[in-house]
Amino acid sequence: MKKITVLGSTGSIGKNTLQIALMFPDRFDICAIAAHKSVKLLKKQIDMFAPRVAALFDEEAACELKTLVDTKKTKILSGAAGVNEAAAYGGADLVVSAIVGSAGLLPTLSAIEAKKDIALANKESLVMAGELVMNLAAYSGVKIFPVDSEHSAIYQSIMGHNISEINKIILTASGGAFVDRSIGELEAVTVEEALRHPNWNMGRKVTVDSATMMNKGLEVIEAHHLFGIKPEDIKVVIHRQSIVHSMVEYVDGSVIAQLGLPDMRTPIAFALSYPERIPVKLPRLDLTKQGALTFEAPDLKKYPALGLAYDAIAMGGTAPAALNAADEVAVEHFLRNKIKFCDIPKIVKKTMTEVKNNVKININTIISTAKEARVKAKEIIDKGSY
Ligand code: MG
Repeated sequence: MKKITVLGSTGSIGKNTLQIALMFPDRFDICAIAAHKSVKLLKKQIDMFAPRVAALFDEEAACELKTLVDTKKTKILSGAAGVNEAAAYGGADLVVSAIVGSAGLLPTLSAIEAKKDIALANKESLVMAGELVMNLAAYSGVKIFPVDSEHSAIYQSIMGHNISEINKIILTASGGAFVDRSIGELEAVTVEEALRHPNWNMGRKVTVDSATMMNKGLEVIEAHHLFGIKPEDIKVVIHRQSIVHSMVEYVDGSVIAQLGLPDMRTPIAFALSYPERIPVKLPRLDLTKQGALTFEAPDLKKYPALGLAYDAIAMGGTAPAALNAADEVAVEHFLRNKIKFCDIPKIVKKTMTEVKNNVKININTIISTAKEARVKAKEIIDKGSY
């Protein structure tokens, strides 16, 4: 029985993880869960999985939850400290890190420090603090299994191969909701339209990031740290069908890819069951019915966010943390109809030039830069100076 902690259990990845656990009750035991503030859903998950520990970030919500569950069976924790404690829960073999955004960084580090293997869905941990996370994982003897579909594909395409024989990594991208719109048409797109992803069913933030291709930019940074590949050797291609989840080209010219229907439960199941593969009952890919698979180069003028991510890697230091924080603020404002879709990369770019890049990377410089970037991005939005 593998004992699993799920951080972000009420989000899209968290719910999918619990679905996989439900399919294999003899194999996975959900021992701890943590979420932001959804009392109702967490209570339901506690009834269903009987975890020993459950944490809610929101203190008030945690108080309410305590009155609803048997606290002798499930210990209820609260606040940032409570979520970190759940992340480090001693009974777990594997921690699924699926809290959305920069809030996922400290719980991920807490789990690594507790020497727990990580199924990493929170890409911000690697975007903000890639060096720190990978060094700490190596030091603690912790394995990191990517849950992001592209990185899971690369992980699977690298298995049994030598990293030094990789020529390049090819990340595929759907192109997001506006893949068929011209640059000019992007000026007038709405929030509702941006949330209509052609292939994947995901959270709101990542769906908007997918439309700007900031998501792919963050994934380039993620791949750079996870696999130790130089940014110039990480290429992005638009593959509208989201069937080829990513590819690895070796020095001899061979390209190895991983394919499947776009369903997050596939990479989640891989990360949960590694090194085994489990017979997940999901619709299967039938290439004879799938139709053409197409690949195009992305237009960096249409998707400036992608270029900004490469810039952030080149700048190094805390620049990726600033990029990520500015994007979080910009997307929040877009979702509240405060700015236009095309303003998102402009605000991120302006923030990156105005926030001082700290080349000394440690948890304090990363968090203070992210904080500063959030304030700066809000200021830029308020002034309309982008
Ligand atoms: Mg992805």
